[in-house]
Amino acid sequence: MADGTMRAWSVIEPGPVEAASLRLVEKPVPVPGDDELLVRVRTCGVCRTDLHVTEGDLPVHRPAVTPGHEVVGVVARCGAAVHGFGGGERVGVAWLRRTDGSCGYCARGAENLCPASSYTGWDADGGYAEYTTVPAAFAYRLPEGLDDVACAPLLCAGIIGHRALRRSALPPGGRLGLYGFGGSAHLCAQVAMAEGATVHVLTRGAAARRLALELGAASARDPYEMPPEALDSAILFAPAGELVPLALRALDRGGTLALAGIHLTDVPALRYESELFYEKQLRSVTSNTREDGREFLALAAEHAVHATTHTYPMTRADEALRDLKAGRFDGAAVLVDDLS
Ligand SMILES: [Zn+2]
Ligand SMILES: [Zn+2]
Repeated sequence: MADGTMRAWSVIEPGPVEAASLRLVEKPVPVPGDDELLVRVRTCGVCRTDLHVTEGDLPVHRPAVTPGHEVVGVVARCGAAVHGFGGGERVGVAWLRRTDGSCGYCARGAENLCPASSYTGWDADGGYAEYTTVPAAFAYRLPEGLDDVACAPLLCAGIIGHRALRRSALPPGGRLGLYGFGGSAHLCAQVAMAEGATVHVLTRGAAARRLALELGAASARDPYEMPPEALDSAILFAPAGELVPLALRALDRGGTLALAGIHLTDVPALRYESELFYEKQLRSVTSNTREDGREFLALAAEHAVHATTHTYPMTRADEALRDLKAGRFDGAAVLVDDLS
């Protein structure tokens, strides 16, 4: 069953997704390494990073790569050295695929900074396919109460949003501003509010602002407006560097701005007095640790975090990416397997 070929999406030549840079092809079913699982894909979330890989905003790490790093599937086969997973078990496959486990960063619990790290759907083929592989040590067990569609966006959007929230150093009961309100932000907002924060959303798009208010945000405005009160913390989810000075000006003294995206357009020159003085902090967010992932999945189950999802058949992954680029849906898109 897991032998022979499969259908998978492949980035043939990075470029505009409208120009068929992503194609549905036949590939060999991947062979799991000794410490890896072969996973039969059921659903795969659509992340903005998949668009960056497809369009060449990120450099090519693996020619003709299959994108997708929010994979929910079941174990089809275990490598010879795998312990602790069994065939048929449901698992999640996320962005961080492997680290060396031995460098100084890994040793101090900062494996997200490991220079030898590799990533699903960039360095290795991901989940826009019938099958994918994952090192068993980097596979997640998923909350039982959430179905395959609901779990998918948690695996990158959710985990990265969670790390960004921690990096934003939000004090208990604090005032949090979210710039951009897509898949990641709408999950982050739910955890922040469950923990007592007041959330202000600053985003283009009436549908996203509506969703923010429905989820309990205190305000929802255009990103070029100021929030109704000064912020203790803010997170920039939109990949728009020109918003950095605005978000810094919206911070109260001592506030922190975290930049959640892997890709950001250039940040304009900052004005020291209005944008950085009074001990304002500007921090980036780089990938995540497995501990971030396990912590977020537990919180998502505890607080019944609910992803607003729009499903597409896997055979229409290119359309889902075009819709993401054009901002045609709120929340997160999830591909549902219809390849076989
Ligand atoms: Zn390392
Ligand atoms: Zn992602």
